[in-house]
Amino acid sequence: MNYKNIKTFFFDLDGTVWNWRDFNPQMRHIIEKLEKKHKKVFFLTNNTILSQKGYARKFSRMGLQIAEEQIITAGIVAAKYFQSKGIDNVYALGEQGLVEDLSAHGITVTDNAKTVLVSYDRNFNYAKLKTACDLIKRGAVLYTTGRETSWIVGVEKYPAVGPILAAVEAATKKEAINVGKPSAIMKQRILDDIFLFPEDCLLVGDELSDVEFGSSCGFRTAVVLTGIVDEYAVKKAQGILKPDTIIRDINEITRNL
Ligand SMILES: [Mg+2]
Repeated sequence: MNYKNIKTFFFDLDGTVWNWRDFNPQMRHIIEKLEKKHKKVFFLTNNTILSQKGYARKFSRMGLQIAEEQIITAGIVAAKYFQSKGIDNVYALGEQGLVEDLSAHGITVTDNAKTVLVSYDRNFNYAKLKTACDLIKRGAVLYTTGRETSWIVGVEKYPAVGPILAAVEAATKKEAINVGKPSAIMKQRILDDIFLFPEDCLLVGDELSDVEFGSSCGFRTAVVLTGIVDEYAVKKAQGILKPDTIIRDINEITRNL
């Protein structure tokens, strides 16, 4: 791939930029170099443990100054989507980061709402499942921030939002509307908020759903092998799941800028 022609880079976070605690090798340097070359750099994540503000603080603690507007969380996408629909309260299975993103856009979290939003929640339990089911039974619409089955912290693999969502979907026989990657709702958010020409954009991710998302946006796509997907699965991928390139050495991005 000719990275010189890429004007806007979208990086997935978990598995691509970092493994939560530490940057993946060279990533910090690559991001710094792209910014120095006046490339536009954005970060996309379905992980709602932190809010947009929280991720900006995390980057800062890790030594990179990244503006909040460069970080697109599924929580922000959900909040803006609900706002556009006139929804001002939701029942959310999620953590502080999600609540922060929602409340930053005037969305209150309550246990009596016509909207249920499922997200990653380390305090998920039976009572929360029951509340979500009761609301959906009474007509609430079910949304999710993603369908990932797992994510990696250090060398450990953890269940992600997918298994929690599966519980809610199994109990209610309803299928959630996804607002995170690779959904059309997240795509629309990006196209509305960021001035870009899709053919000048590259999405770098560690899952085939990242590739699917990038393809659906009309971006070029690249997969790194530092996260969830292995080379065998990438090579088997077809159609919109097939990336334009596999990045084995991340330095290739900035080598010829
Ligand atoms: Mg990832």
